[in-house]
Amino acid sequence: MAKRKIKVGFVGLGLMGAPMAANVQKAGFPLRVWNRTADKAGPLVAGGAARGATASDAARGADVVLVMVADDTALDNVLFGDGGLSRGLKRGAVLVNCSTTSPAISYRAATALRSISVRYLEAAVMRSVQAAREGKLQMLIGGSRDDFLKAEPVLKTLASDIHHIGDVGRASTLKLACGLLKAAMIQAFAEYFVMGRKTGIPLETMMDVLKVGPLDSQLFRYAEQTVVNPGARPSFYLKHMLKDVNLAMDLARQLDLPLPLTSEVRQMLVAAKNLNRGDEDFAAVLDLMAGWAGVAMRG
Ligand code: NAP
Repeated sequence: MAKRKIKVGFVGLGLMGAPMAANVQKAGFPLRVWNRTADKAGPLVAGGAARGATASDAARGADVVLVMVADDTALDNVLFGDGGLSRGLKRGAVLVNCSTTSPAISYRAATALRSISVRYLEAAVMRSVQAAREGKLQMLIGGSRDDFLKAEPVLKTLASDIHHIGDVGRASTLKLACGLLKAAMIQAFAEYFVMGRKTGIPLETMMDVLKVGPLDSQLFRYAEQTVVNPGARPSFYLKHMLKDVNLAMDLARQLDLPLPLTSEVRQMLVAAKNLNRGDEDFAAVLDLMAGWAGVAMRG
């Protein structure tokens, strides 16, 4: 279908959803949007997007509807709650879930939507808010190739690397596996950081060693920025990292899978959340570790 003919709905305009929807708009697709907190739709509406009165209304006439919400509860709400998408999606539309949610809710959503002739696709994303702004996300697709091909022209405006992982459930599972790796890496970085800090090795030296060696990672470079600029606006909330780890642990329980490291890392995230740091960037674990180690983040 030609680009201008693909009508797009977008639901969930948080840190990630807002810049993603902006890229869909910039690419010229007719766009209808909805967000629970209505004012977050303001800039898109000012740029020409139509505002849905409800999620269902944002899906009106759309061929492809993207959802980027916090978690399973939010997804359930925007799909099946009052004014939910399931009431507004037209037959043959593709519902693309970009949120990080459980495989279980994907199976349930795919089955329920199939009964109203709507296709369901997982498109879990990785990288950062910055990558979302630049249309350079990494995207993991779960669903049929035909459904993917229908949504692909829209997805290409969001992501520079798109991997078709397999059927519904496969992409969300792989995304959770990536999430547990990310959480463990950030905890390991925090421990690396406090050992250096306690013994007086400058952060620059520690980063120089990482950047040219086998341990280099975009995630560690991001964490470095958090140390250098601790007051920066959150890019990925700590509460969402905990949510991802909880989803990974739930799946591990279902699979009878031991995840000893992930369960240790979860303790740290739970403690951080209970210290009211859930709405900070996930890199707040560095600050927490610095406190435990009796070292300052900077200076
Ligand atoms: P966010 O800023 O917290 O946005 C969450 C969105 O979900 C908001 O639009 C929020 O609406 C909506 N929402 C939450 N609960 C809801 C409910 N019960 N009913 C309806 N809408 C609800 O989070 P984000 O950073 O954009 O992340 C969105 C998803 O992407 C999460 O699953 C996250 O794990 C994943 N992700 C994030 C990043 C990142 O770097 N930030 C990277 C990869 C994946 P309100 O505006 O009304 O609160």
